[in-house]
Amino acid sequence: MSSQRKADYDVIAVGAGFAGLALIHHVREAGLSIRVFDKASDIGGTWAWNRYPGAASDSECYYYCLTFSKELLQDWSWSVRYPSWEENLRYMHFVADRCAMWPHIQLNTAIVNADFQEDSGLWLLRTAGGEQFTCRYFVSAMGMISEPVIPQFKGMDRFKGPLFHSSRWPAEGLDYAGKRVGIIGSGATTVQMLPVVAQQASNVTVFQRTANFVMPAVQKPMTPEWEKEIKAHYDEIVAKCRNHVFGMAFDSPVGRNLADTPADEVQRILEEHWPRGSFRFVFETFDDLLSNAESNRIVGEFVLRKMLENVKDPDVRDMLTPRGYPFFAKRPPLDHGFFATFNRDNVKLVDIGNREPLVEITETGIRTTKQDHDFDIIVLATGFQAYTGAQEALPIRGRDGLLLRDKWDEVSSSIMGVFVAGFPNLFMITGPQAPFANLPTSIEQNAVYIVDCIRKMEAEGHDLCVPKQDAEETWVAHVADIHRQTLMAQGDKVHSWMMGANLENRNPRVLIYFGGANVYYDKLRESADAGFPEVAFERITAQ
Ligand code: NAP
Repeated sequence: MSSQRKADYDVIAVGAGFAGLALIHHVREAGLSIRVFDKASDIGGTWAWNRYPGAASDSECYYYCLTFSKELLQDWSWSVRYPSWEENLRYMHFVADRCAMWPHIQLNTAIVNADFQEDSGLWLLRTAGGEQFTCRYFVSAMGMISEPVIPQFKGMDRFKGPLFHSSRWPAEGLDYAGKRVGIIGSGATTVQMLPVVAQQASNVTVFQRTANFVMPAVQKPMTPEWEKEIKAHYDEIVAKCRNHVFGMAFDSPVGRNLADTPADEVQRILEEHWPRGSFRFVFETFDDLLSNAESNRIVGEFVLRKMLENVKDPDVRDMLTPRGYPFFAKRPPLDHGFFATFNRDNVKLVDIGNREPLVEITETGIRTTKQDHDFDIIVLATGFQAYTGAQEALPIRGRDGLLLRDKWDEVSSSIMGVFVAGFPNLFMITGPQAPFANLPTSIEQNAVYIVDCIRKMEAEGHDLCVPKQDAEETWVAHVADIHRQTLMAQGDKVHSWMMGANLENRNPRVLIYFGGANVYYDKLRESADAGFPEVAFERITAQ
């Protein structure tokens, strides 16, 4: 047994989204105590915050969920292919209710400091309300796309109406019917938001800096037949996710490359898959779209032609045309009517990248180099500091007072996105240099791995797991090596958050392991089976 240093909880996690819920399940199974804090007023993580009109998951519902309980998988029913934020929240409440998780969750509680205590080996956490809690194991479950990026436009505090980041859409709702709405940004959030807002607003203007490749979502209702089919095959679906390069229940790899396929056959296959919707288009057509530049160019041209074919105004089509970067070097959004919405009389697109840069926010709206645009509401759909934002905002202090934020100043290093050298007994769920994948799949794999490590420590009497510097260097080099071999590396040219290139005053960096989520999950398993060789286990001696 470990030396059982006295702490308020064995495990404290910050973040009551999928990661927090998965952890509660696995930590309880290990017979340990856990408290999950969240500053939000509800569980749900991303879905507690992203309540903008049209917010929905881009993963299909039946694998965008937790899989630790076969019963829950059978008992929950989804209503559509891509559930709205409301439905995702209802699902997470269902999980928390059925698994009696609420006693472990403390909402409306912001953790403002997390400090490793050298003498006791405990983590000390302070809340915004001045409370303190200690734990033996501290887990960051704060989400990899949760810390908003809020550009400091000149004059931002002058605007008289509501101005907020898309992930801070007022929880009590906002009546935008008949109002003039300006949206800055044109990423996945705007692609979902615009078609819904345009239906009621008097007019909407989107201020776009960089155009995106966008694929169709093809929303559809869940039918009784489809649900029956899914529920009869859940073991296979879970296995598919576990073995898929992006953690999705897709039928890939398909065993063919675009580069080896005759041109007319390529077009036939792409045409056949396009109307099916979802990221399946990328993974169930050819296996070389993200690695072979010429294959990527061909599919990029196809996507471009298809996505813009219904945009009537040639000038708007031109502005919506992505240029200068490969398909998928920015995360492509899924279209729920985004392009068709630009055919409405009350919708306007302003190119602030080339034609009409944004100058400032005024009392009444947005001033560009060409004109003043007046609004009642301005939404900053300007994205997130991916992978590192939440941990850096906390702040987290490890050995010798080292701030995680400072450690990550140049390189956001980790060991498999879970451990960080200099931070004993700190674990991250989907930290930097983990894969970008269907999040519940990665989250569950991480939660199992972390709790396996904790179980080992408990069973063998270790107080500390100390991530090894050389293991971190090896992982960082491996991730960078793979990154260089993909086309994703070109995302730095177009502010891709996948490289942290959307942050001003920060160098782009390798944030994602692109070696395949399935390969990564294997590595986690191998590490656990080998007794976690990436960390040193230590015992604290009485002082
Ligand atoms: P995003 O894709 O990073 O898009 C941010 C937008 O704001 C971009 O158009 C960006 O322009 C613009 N922008 C940022 N700073 C700016 C500035 N200073 N001046 C002008 N424009 C600026 O953010 P997001 O749309 O919130 O999506 C982020 C990620 O969240 C997605 O890729 C996805 O992974 C996730 N997400 C998922 C879902 C879902 O699954 N349903 C929905 C929404 C979001 P540039 O492109 O020029 O930088």
